[in-house]
Amino acid sequence: MTMEELHALFLEHPKICTDTRKITENCMFFALKGPNFNGNAFAQEALDKGAAYAVIDEKEFKTSDRFVVCEDVLGTLQQLATYHRNYSKAKIVSLTGSNGKTTTKELINAVISKKYKTIATQGNLNNHIGVPLTLLSIKEDTEITIVEMGANHQKEIEFLCSIAQPDFGYITNFGKAHLEGFGGVEGVIKGKSEMYDYLMANDNYVFFNADDDIQKGKLANYTKKMGFSTNDPNYYNIKFLGVDPFVSLEAEGTQIQTQLVGKYNFPNCCAAILMGKYFNVPIDDIKSAIEAYQPQNNRSQLLSKNGFDIVLDAYNANPTSMKAALENFSLMDAQRKTLIIGDMFELGDTAAEEHQAIADVVIELGFDDAYLVGENFHGTHTKLKKFKSFDDLKAYLSKNPLKKGALLIKGSRGMALERVLDLL
Ligand code: ATP
Ligand code: MG
Repeated sequence: MTMEELHALFLEHPKICTDTRKITENCMFFALKGPNFNGNAFAQEALDKGAAYAVIDEKEFKTSDRFVVCEDVLGTLQQLATYHRNYSKAKIVSLTGSNGKTTTKELINAVISKKYKTIATQGNLNNHIGVPLTLLSIKEDTEITIVEMGANHQKEIEFLCSIAQPDFGYITNFGKAHLEGFGGVEGVIKGKSEMYDYLMANDNYVFFNADDDIQKGKLANYTKKMGFSTNDPNYYNIKFLGVDPFVSLEAEGTQIQTQLVGKYNFPNCCAAILMGKYFNVPIDDIKSAIEAYQPQNNRSQLLSKNGFDIVLDAYNANPTSMKAALENFSLMDAQRKTLIIGDMFELGDTAAEEHQAIADVVIELGFDDAYLVGENFHGTHTKLKKFKSFDDLKAYLSKNPLKKGALLIKGSRGMALERVLDLL
């Protein structure tokens, strides 16, 4: 079957499923393979549950003409996504960066959807499967699609750009995340910049943070760009008004009061405002979109429970976002401040050094109480309380309950520190 024929079939069945537990009526099932499963073996079940067709790459599983056999299911999914992207009239805005991609994506979507029909990456589906699935969710009337791209090694963003072929792009920041796979901070800068490389090679448009010297430097000789800045009059100016504990800011004389905790969310908002400006969304609509946005999934949420005011940021952590969260928490106005922070993963050789640096920052900023959880933090030299595991922390807290007040909870996803909420 040619790509054109497969695409015609897709247009008749425009819902893609890759998991037999989530089959929807009349979908197309793509039999992906993982380290522990072979989707081909589930293709018949997908059809039995209501899929219209199953795309497979092992022909022995074909038992009827509702199977489409191709050479490689994943590659076919990606090629179909590119075909559909080019078939549709929607413009593609892509974004990557070390921190804040999902938040920024959602803010951009909130702003842009005030004026246009948009599609955006669902949740965090930002990899070699999620990006194609996002593109394949583009509808006939979609005008702008916002695509989050994640990466933990070189050439990944280049590859995702080759699939999505973005017209516009933004990099949130170059931070200390996935240092192991990228090969240090220089590696991160190179890897994330693959998005700039794609956009510049294709004479496409770049949005950027003009207060970030690395971004500014990378784009110095490129003209198709629009930047924001808090102080440089050559760019679109946005004022930071404060965090109390929510970020507030001002653009074009209009004050915007967000529901986002943490100064690190300021550039995320700025990117959304800048794009709103570029796409001619009226400033009042930009304001209402940003003011209405509430973060989800443990990303910088502010909660109250049993006398604790909690900044729950347990979704993930790396040295840059951890430091930003600590600094932000230290600025917060509260009587008593306690931290429970967990290990940061994927740091490779630098793990010991980075955890030590964070333990030192905790002492330097001075909190009332601090609990460090995980093997890496346990290995640091510090007078702070350390626990090898969550269970050790739990056992300790059952005998020595936390004192009420403000509480910051942050750690890598694998630490699942939202479990602390059950201990309060
Ligand atoms: P992932 O790599 O999991 O897709 P992401 O880049 O999509 O993450 P978000 O989910 O938006 O990032 O935010 C995760 C956390 O990163 C936030 O809760 C916050 O602690 C931190 N963060 C968000 N924005 C920034 C930023 N601009 N700079 C530094 N840290 C940030
Ligand atoms: Mg994300």
